[in-house]
Amino acid sequence: MNILLLGSGGREHALAWKMAASPLVDRLTCAPGNAGIAQETACVALDVADHAAVIAYCRDHGIDFVVVGPEAPLCAGIVDDLEAAGIKAFGPTREAARLEGSKGFTKDLCRSAGIPTAAYQRFRSVDQAKAYARKCGAPLVVKADGLAAGKGVVVAQSTAEAEAAVEMMLGGGLGAAGAEVVIEEFLSGEEASFFALCDGETALALASAQDHKRAFDGDKGPNTGGMGAYSPAPIVDVVTGERVMREIVHPTLRAMKALGAPYKGVLYAGLMMTDAGPKLIEYNVRFGDPECQVLMLRLMSDLVPALLASRDGVLKSLDLRWHPQAALTVVMAARGYPGAYERGSVIQGLDEAAAVEGVEIFHAGTRRDGERLLADGGRVLDVCALGRTVGEARSRAYAAVERIRWPQGFCRHDIGWRAVEREQ
Ligand code: AMP
Repeated sequence: MNILLLGSGGREHALAWKMAASPLVDRLTCAPGNAGIAQETACVALDVADHAAVIAYCRDHGIDFVVVGPEAPLCAGIVDDLEAAGIKAFGPTREAARLEGSKGFTKDLCRSAGIPTAAYQRFRSVDQAKAYARKCGAPLVVKADGLAAGKGVVVAQSTAEAEAAVEMMLGGGLGAAGAEVVIEEFLSGEEASFFALCDGETALALASAQDHKRAFDGDKGPNTGGMGAYSPAPIVDVVTGERVMREIVHPTLRAMKALGAPYKGVLYAGLMMTDAGPKLIEYNVRFGDPECQVLMLRLMSDLVPALLASRDGVLKSLDLRWHPQAALTVVMAARGYPGAYERGSVIQGLDEAAAVEGVEIFHAGTRRDGERLLADGGRVLDVCALGRTVGEARSRAYAAVERIRWPQGFCRHDIGWRAVEREQ
């Protein structure tokens, strides 16, 4: 079959790498892609926000199946539009994508389905929100309801900080995404990500992962899209995974079905492992980036039948095999990220780096200029490795990082520290 993959980051490079290996695929195309994805498969300059253009491309090029990487097109209803045009697509409909697109929607769903999550209230009024923040007291978490590109969550250590966040968000600081806020209880514990593939009815647990959101070593500095990740997360053992499926994922699927918006696609649960058990922090409606990269390294089975089974509603009969090995990825970013950074610096040494045993390098933001490879984003490369332990995967990934010559880039040097400490 002919597949079109939408997106341009490291997540999509990992998906393209995995799907390109499938015997079911005749032709794989990625829109818009990046320089690394172009090494796996053809890339085409399509504007993913222009659904009519995507549909026209699919019709002109005999595309049988569209796989959507990022959340924005999902929340904008690209799956609805493709399916209405008779083109199969992987991912949730616009209604179902509200699990990521509206924090208030998800919190209400948790409340009515009895899913463990932080206590909360929703607000549109600044005065009421501030009064609630004062009543609860810090620490508190203030969240913009809508998609805010990672800027929509403030963990406030004081009531003043919470009130300032309320004013910023409801005052229009995040545009339409902040027209409503959720104020919630602060949960303490260790965070983990849990992924399940869903077909509206059935959920198949994929694997767990942990990521590092802060820019600098020691989990310091500003929040980013993610500076590294590893899988499995040692904190999510088999029993905990079953509990997450029972208490969080399955009730969500039942509730979405009852609402008339059955959930299909990858359900990514951001969890806090509290003393009272796993609680849901948030849902994402697609693979995490960079978690997808480590998941794809560990997945032994063909990905394509799994994505098709999710779309077709036949996951019940599917089983996936995973490498028992651990995988880890180190993100290399342009200096200045997540703030201002420059594009266009030259990256060298990738072939030498990729020759390290167990290493696979995915591109997150690159472009080619003749023979030269140039940085073309904030997060630029994902240096990934498999190993018998997280520690071994980490040694291999950093050995590869050492071989990359890119003075304008930086990375964290402690990815996986929690897992490595546990292993020791
Ligand atoms: P989110 O975008 O909802 O995942 O939030 C981003 C980050 O904020 C999470 O990864 C957590 O580190 C933190 N966070 C969000 N909600 C809470 C909460 N209720 N308690 C503690 N930390 C939180």
